Amino acid sequence: MCKIIAVANQKGGVGKTTTSVNLGASLASQGKKVLLIDIDPQGNTTSGIGINKADVMYCIYDVLINDVHPKDATAETVIPNLHIIPATIQLAGAEIELVPTISREVRLKKSLALVRHLYDYILIDCPPSLGILTVNSLTAADSVLIPIQCEYYALEGLSQLLNTIRLVQKHLNTSLQIEGVLLTMFDARTNLGIQVIEEVKKYFQQKVYQTVIPRNVRLSEAPSHGESIITYDPRSKGAEVYMELAKEVIQSEQAIG
Ligand code: ADP
Ligand code: MG
Repeated sequence: MCKIIAVANQKGGVGKTTTSVNLGASLASQGKKVLLIDIDPQGNTTSGIGINKADVMYCIYDVLINDVHPKDATAETVIPNLHIIPATIQLAGAEIELVPTISREVRLKKSLALVRHLYDYILIDCPPSLGILTVNSLTAADSVLIPIQCEYYALEGLSQLLNTIRLVQKHLNTSLQIEGVLLTMFDARTNLGIQVIEEVKKYFQQKVYQTVIPRNVRLSEAPSHGESIITYDPRSKGAEVYMELAKEVIQSEQAIG
């Protein structure tokens, strides 16, 4: 059974893309078949996994707007079992172009229905907004993974995200669940990080992953080499923690049955 997970938080720079790429690579290297969907016009997941945007024939824009079959937009990566539907800057137009179309919120869901049987996990890297692309992602998803950066205003803006999730649950996707809350960019040298962890745990309780992602230079270097941490530096702390997170994600599913 395939699980579709949207990685969402309308704040930029909280670790959505880093988590999508490296959780995807970690799940794949643990034997799972994974499809990454880049639905952010910035296309950082696309370049971060080593796809040259100039070589992309069809991207997620074509799937959403031009009814291109998702299989025809899927590319392989250097990691076996890890595929991607890339994004290019073309996608920037989709927010506006989707507005007048019929059933605009369910376009991604309908497309992914054509390929979900091929994968164990589909991870959707959302843009830093709560617009139509994020709503499409939440509508297509079984669950949402929320990365939260360990910083002073960590919880700020989360009520908007939770409100959007509730609206999608009410009108578009009644079975949408919260997969988990992931604390990112933790810095053990400051008290602030520890305070933020406590605050987030108070709010989200057992939804918070035990795995906390620390600040790790190797994680920030890997994308500029077009690699996930799993191939860029498999011995790094960054690789270790994302492999741990992948285990938690797999286990939580087994626990549910
Ligand atoms: P988002 O997709 O939410 O905008 P990114 O994943 O692109 O966030 O992360 C923002 C920036 O922080 C990027 O430059 C990324 O390389 C860096 N980064 C993300 N996670 C870590 C981490 N754990 N340690 C160090 N740098 C990180
Ligand atoms: Mg991003």
